[in-house]
Amino acid sequence: RSNAEKFEFQAEVSRLMDIIINSLYSNKDIFLRELISNASDALDKIRFLALTDKEILGEGDNTKLEIQIKLDKENKVLSIRDRGIGMTKEDLIKNLGTIAKSGTSAFVEKMQTSGDLNLIGQFGVGFYSVYLVADYVEVISKHNDDKQYIWESKADGSFAISEDEINEPLGRGTEIRLHLREEAQEYLEEDKLKELVKKYSEFINFPIYMWASKEVDVEVPADENESEEEETTDSSSSEEEVEEEDSEKKPKTKTVKETTSEWELLNDMKAVWLRNPKEVTDEEYTKFYHSLAKEFGDEKPLAWSHFTAEGDVEFKAILFVPPKAPHDLYESYYNSNKANLKLYVRRVFISDEFDELLPKYLNFLKGLVDSDTLPLNVSREMLQQHNSLKTIKKKLIRKALDMIRKIAEEDPDEANDKDNKEAEKANDNDEKRGQYAKFWNEFGKSIKLGIVEDAANRNRLAKLLRVESTKSGGKLTSLDQYISRMKPGQKDIFYITGTSKEQLEKSPFLERLTKKNYEVIFFTDPVDEYLMQYLMDYEDKKFQNVSKEGLKLGKEPKDKELKESYKELTKWWKGALASENVDDVKISNRLDNSPCVVVTSKYGWSANMERIMQSQTL
Ligand code: ADP
Ligand code: MG
Repeated sequence: RSNAEKFEFQAEVSRLMDIIINSLYSNKDIFLRELISNASDALDKIRFLALTDKEILGEGDNTKLEIQIKLDKENKVLSIRDRGIGMTKEDLIKNLGTIAKSGTSAFVEKMQTSGDLNLIGQFGVGFYSVYLVADYVEVISKHNDDKQYIWESKADGSFAISEDEINEPLGRGTEIRLHLREEAQEYLEEDKLKELVKKYSEFINFPIYMWASKEVDVEVPADENESEEEETTDSSSSEEEVEEEDSEKKPKTKTVKETTSEWELLNDMKAVWLRNPKEVTDEEYTKFYHSLAKEFGDEKPLAWSHFTAEGDVEFKAILFVPPKAPHDLYESYYNSNKANLKLYVRRVFISDEFDELLPKYLNFLKGLVDSDTLPLNVSREMLQQHNSLKTIKKKLIRKALDMIRKIAEEDPDEANDKDNKEAEKANDNDEKRGQYAKFWNEFGKSIKLGIVEDAANRNRLAKLLRVESTKSGGKLTSLDQYISRMKPGQKDIFYITGTSKEQLEKSPFLERLTKKNYEVIFFTDPVDEYLMQYLMDYEDKKFQNVSKEGLKLGKEPKDKELKESYKELTKWWKGALASENVDDVKISNRLDNSPCVVVTSKYGWSANMERIMQSQTL
């Protein structure tokens, strides 16, 4: 095009496109899901803006918030069009090529190792999946604030943008035209497209139409001779006499089948969260999760909770625990404000960036909240400060923690505790077996961070904590289980911190405790030191680091005597070690074989904490 301006793709984007084009990945269908999801996002955006400014929607067809799919067999073009927000020229340049999203390089890296293209949407680069099936793509877009433009690229390292002087005006929105590759012609088959939309876009909240052929009955004059000539070779096309022989006065007509085209609605836009939980199947929840999370494996979410909150603030919500943690869950944990819940107000999508809905440590959950109490026609900023959000957050945390507790309760592997009746009942439920260990493996760190951050729910979160100990036999155990095994007279919960279980098992600090059959918890994650500064007690039991001052093991009658008889020796040691920063020298109640051990003062850092602070791993 003479008026085209040429741009180079940003280097990472270019690499990504190369990977996609040369991919042997067999599930090429995913491009459609990505395009429909983008169309739906664009429609959400315009609908949101229209809440505070009705003018923005325009009039006529522009007000129809819908998605349209067209197949052009002759030219081998598949097009998907929406009446969403559209893109200005600048948007086209930025969004489709020159500015790499944060996930781009992470995705490229991932593709070079594991190669599951299916995850593309999660990395924020779903658009480029069009090159799985097309070798030439045009994006025609009209935003309210700009003229209509064409973006086009053959994925050869560059793209071009020109003012659109050839296509029909879109009014508003975006049309993506895929010039399909030779081997991707199946995407011009109506049935294939219908099947894909059903499969991937069941939960899109806007109508998706396809310009589809349809057989219709047409009445034509029943002229014997003519009709015989018209009869096609297709034997199935029926032909019936509709007029009775005796109605001679009326002109004779007959009905024939003819093929025309019309817009066919492909989805039913059911809002799962508005339905009665009893009527939603596990399969539907799983599919809904996949569409929310842009995650399209076969994996079921680990758990979900679907509920209605009543009272001052009314809302419906569905929360999911994903089967796996996302690749960047703990990356820049304290700086990012990633929120994974979608907020709707009265069925209208408002935002998926409200981090007021859940505390950071629960960011791994996915889900949706739809409230009737929040106002619709205010700005996002005003909504963000709305008082009801605090109530919603509080309830969501409760429900989330209940949901996680239930994973444990229903897991037969957790049943090694006599009190865990629920788990015993579920003993034959193999599907739930090992689910909590799986949860803990993926998200345990989030629970620990929760204990640090959420004082109000600390005890609830501590119940969810799993640890290894000198008695857990390589398995995970809970604090409740620990308490049930405590020795008579034992007041504190004993733990030790270090870099690995193997290292800790050899620690002299354990000698006497192990010999006397006390259980000691191993904490080996750097975050554990931090955790134990906040987790002071559980169910009225104090935590005691066995490498710190203050260890008490029930009553030991000879303690006083020993102390007395070795007084001179300890005094001498103390004097001799004074220059080594030793506070005190005492008779130890922790040792068995080792002659002596260095103990940290009660309020000082443990040796492990010193090590962590020095290596700055926290
Ligand atoms: P993501 O959807 O995760 O942001 P994509 O690669 O799918 O990533 O899309 C990139 C960006 O291009 C989108 O964020 C959006 O700004 C823009 N975009 C893509 N498709 C459309 C569309 N149909 N209408 C408006 N903007 C779009
Ligand atoms: Mg997308």
